[in-house]
Amino acid sequence: MKISVIGTGYVGLVTGTCLAETGNEVICVDIDEAKVEQMKSGIVPIYEPHLDVLFERNIKANRLKFSTSLNEGLDHGEIIFLALPTPEDDDGSADLSYVLGVAKEIGKHIKEYKVIVDKSTVPVGTSDKVKATISSETNVEFDVVSNPEFLREGFAVDDFLKPERIVIGSSSERATKLMNKLYKPFVRSGNPILIMDERSAELTKYAANSFLAAKITFMNEIANFCEKVGADVDKVRIGMGTDSRIGKRFLFPGIGYGGSCFPKDVKALRKSGKEHNHDFEILSSVIKVNSNQKTILIPKITSYFNNDLKGKTFAIWGLAFKPETDDIREAPALYMIDKLLELGAKLNVFDPEAMPNVKKKYGDQLNYSSNMYDTVNGVDALIICTEWSIFRTPNFSELKKLMLEPVIFDGRNLYDIKDIENEGFNYTSIGRKSV
Ligand code: NAD
Repeated sequence: MKISVIGTGYVGLVTGTCLAETGNEVICVDIDEAKVEQMKSGIVPIYEPHLDVLFERNIKANRLKFSTSLNEGLDHGEIIFLALPTPEDDDGSADLSYVLGVAKEIGKHIKEYKVIVDKSTVPVGTSDKVKATISSETNVEFDVVSNPEFLREGFAVDDFLKPERIVIGSSSERATKLMNKLYKPFVRSGNPILIMDERSAELTKYAANSFLAAKITFMNEIANFCEKVGADVDKVRIGMGTDSRIGKRFLFPGIGYGGSCFPKDVKALRKSGKEHNHDFEILSSVIKVNSNQKTILIPKITSYFNNDLKGKTFAIWGLAFKPETDDIREAPALYMIDKLLELGAKLNVFDPEAMPNVKKKYGDQLNYSSNMYDTVNGVDALIICTEWSIFRTPNFSELKKLMLEPVIFDGRNLYDIKDIENEGFNYTSIGRKSV
């Protein structure tokens, strides 16, 4: 099939590449000229495990092409995916200007039947807005389908190739048939393609992300309470998670959720609720608790250093919002950095993939290390913000030698408390007490 993907970011590039992998001819369109040039010369512009292999293979096979021309994309695809940004607007709602802007251009240019597929995360009713925007410009027949994306950064290729479910919101038989044909190769193991109305599909995505954000946040509250009552959140987590109704995943406490999706999606669903006279009280609490959680280590750090961080130097391990990505959007590490700089601390930072993005944001305000051990050289304490695998079993004696003091503040509970205290560290984590 001929497919076009408009917007070639984390979602669009993975979508385009994986659809090319199953034999489709794909054009990925982006307005970012530098990014398109990079991709044309064979460079993957983001870090996403396994993407490079598929990317290279499909470019070589001539099934994956890139363009800055929206019209070229619109002429090419019988199915046009919109994988455009829907960032948080000033009032917390999703900014639909990218999606509706492209919809208007589609209306102006469309020459024959197309299926327009909204893969961006959008509020309920957006597919009607997209339809109306295109219809205001043309009489050519088209359908709009809502097809929210559930991929996780860091596992995006695997998630796209082997999805647990595919959600299609469509009221057109013709469009549904095409979407089923396109996705059939991805559900050979029997996972479902769920066909529903557009509004239910749109809400499914927000409900799923908000639920997961609430699950993490609930566990963070429990962790904070554990500290007050002398319980151990690791024990509580396992005790809870072995109940199959609760499940083991998304119960790890830490310094809050971040990323390009949960923060804005929870706020957008709450705003959507307000617009329909529905007060999502639970989401307001999630937002409030998470906002506090991102800097929950700060009072612990200041209290350890007698409320004076001026002239202190800290190492920060992990800057991306989670491991296996270079994405720093809303990363808890950035909130920690901002607060620590404000309190007068000096920071050495390290992340396996996100350093270029952090450099772009902070310039010479930080010292950038080329490896995790350089980061800790001469520091007063180490602060862990992202749970990359390489941080899990460091050489502790080497760390102790390099650091001024053997002090670790761990926002991701990476180490066994007994083990690390036996190594001679003063160790503070989330929801667990020192031995
Ligand atoms: P992104 O910011 O990484 O990428 C968006 C791309 O669109 C950018 O490359 C940008 O240059 C391009 N773009 C902007 N305007 C354009 C235009 N007019 N024409 C062509 N290209 C244009 O965004 P993303 O993370 O891929 O997210 C896209 C959507 O998917 C969002 O709605 C997001 O909420 C949703 N989503 C994201 C994820 C994720 O993990 N990142 C997962 C599921 C859903």
